[in-house]
Amino acid sequence: MQHVVILLGAPGAGKGTQAQRLTEALSLPHISTGDLFRENLSQGTDLGSKAKVFMERGDLVPDELVIDMLFDRVSREDCKSGYLLDGFPRTIAQAESLGARLDGADATIQVVDIQVPDAIITKRITGRWSCPDCNAVYHATFSPPKTAGTCDACSGTLTQRKDDTAQVVVQRLANYHELTAPLAAWYQERGAFCSVDGNTDTDSVFEACLACVQLEAS
Ligand code: ADP
Ligand code: AMP
Repeated sequence: MQHVVILLGAPGAGKGTQAQRLTEALSLPHISTGDLFRENLSQGTDLGSKAKVFMERGDLVPDELVIDMLFDRVSREDCKSGYLLDGFPRTIAQAESLGARLDGADATIQVVDIQVPDAIITKRITGRWSCPDCNAVYHATFSPPKTAGTCDACSGTLTQRKDDTAQVVVQRLANYHELTAPLAAWYQERGAFCSVDGNTDTDSVFEACLACVQLEAS
């Protein structure tokens, strides 16, 4: 049985933060399409250069590029028993492709939608610092590293993402509301779906996400 857990939510809702804990709690690999694109960008691949223009202006990368990249990643051995998706699907077409891929396979999909108001999202994104080496996530005010600018986990140098500006957030949120938010109703009609309040401390959000997955599984 393949166990596929999907974290839905706006950019900055806390999907990556929760995924870093859920990956251990559920023993599932954490697959972030945003991280995969950033790896492609830093390695200078053809895919990275195609994705760059969309990412920098806060638009979604075209479905066919995302789907091919994601399916290639989840075909690997470490995803045999399942995986935890962060940032995929982001459109109905992506959800349909994933559904078609898993249809007929011995797989379950569980969806956890992390809800955070837009005004809070903007504060979270503009204060985010990330580690390019291990992908750990910090916030200048809400969860600062022990030493400013240095990753607690691997001592890497923290950076701010190019798309984490107040200006680009406006476009990312507009795309989220238009293209990604409808996935909540789409999954609600199709099976295991749970919504959690993401506008609280990270421990409480984690407990709520875990309870969701366990509740849906029973
Ligand atoms: P996403 O992966 O959904 O884009 P992140 O997990 O990277 O979101 O979180 C965005 C920013 O908000 C980061 O700076 C992170 O440290 C911070 N953050 C995440 N969860 C919370 C929370 N519950 N309370 C306050 N800040 C949070
Ligand atoms: P994230 O790290 O999840 O915030 O993603 C960063 C950027 O990568 C997004 O703003 C998109 O440009 C692109 N991206 C990541 N995942 C997807 C996806 N599933 N569909 C389309 N674009 C994506």
